Amino acid sequence: MTESKTTANVATLAPPVLILLGPPGAGKGTQARMLEKRYGLVQLSTGDLLRAAVAEGSEAGKAADKVMKSGGLVSDEIVIAILRDRLSDPDTAKGVILDGFPRTTVQAEALDELLAESGQKIDAAISLEVDDEAMVHRIAGRYTCGECGEGYHDSFKKPKVDGVCDVCGASNMKRRSDDNAETVAERLAAYHKQTAPLITYYEQRGALQRIDAMGSIDEIATTVSRAVAEATRK
Ligand code: AMP
Repeated sequence: MTESKTTANVATLAPPVLILLGPPGAGKGTQARMLEKRYGLVQLSTGDLLRAAVAEGSEAGKAADKVMKSGGLVSDEIVIAILRDRLSDPDTAKGVILDGFPRTTVQAEALDELLAESGQKIDAAISLEVDDEAMVHRIAGRYTCGECGEGYHDSFKKPKVDGVCDVCGASNMKRRSDDNAETVAERLAAYHKQTAPLITYYEQRGALQRIDAMGSIDEIATTVSRAVAEATRK
């Protein structure tokens, strides 16, 4: 049976606000895209928004570029401004899945304030829990369709025809420049130092859902969907 793209599957009155937490390579982007399709929510990836700003050559993009290449975190000020801007777009009224935001306590507090302005709050912070070693392998093999953004992997998810996107048929696969061994080590270090404390932050607010994210993409998707359904029923 095909899933219809409707928010009616999410049993909540207010538009859901979900956060995907986890180190680089944990599968946040992949799971966010699946939730987006399944529930008709909007995926908000600050990584994607920053890459777009870099490509545009905006002031924020120029400032972010160097930091992203090194694997560090872009300043809270820039990222919060970019997110605030995107959240003001009308499509986000359907509900959002935040992928890669917040990454610091300052960002988490700013998000709480931003949502409070429109009478909203976080329904669930889903923590995708994985081993660092597996992350390096996952990141090293991943690539996306440059046209539609569908994600692929050399070992876990190959397109049916090599180099051709299953979803849109384009032959324009891209690998991220920061998916190299050195930068990945920095990104993992930044995660443990600055982002992992958010697990406690959301646990204390009763919003945390921990998920074992070492299984297959589909297994993890099933568990994530269950967690979302449970969180939005409250
Ligand atoms: P991602 O696509 O989520 O892996 O993010 C790629 C890079 O963008 C990260 O390594 C950071 O340099 C930057 N970035 C993305 N989201 C954030 C955020 N919320 N705070 C700070 N830096 C971010």
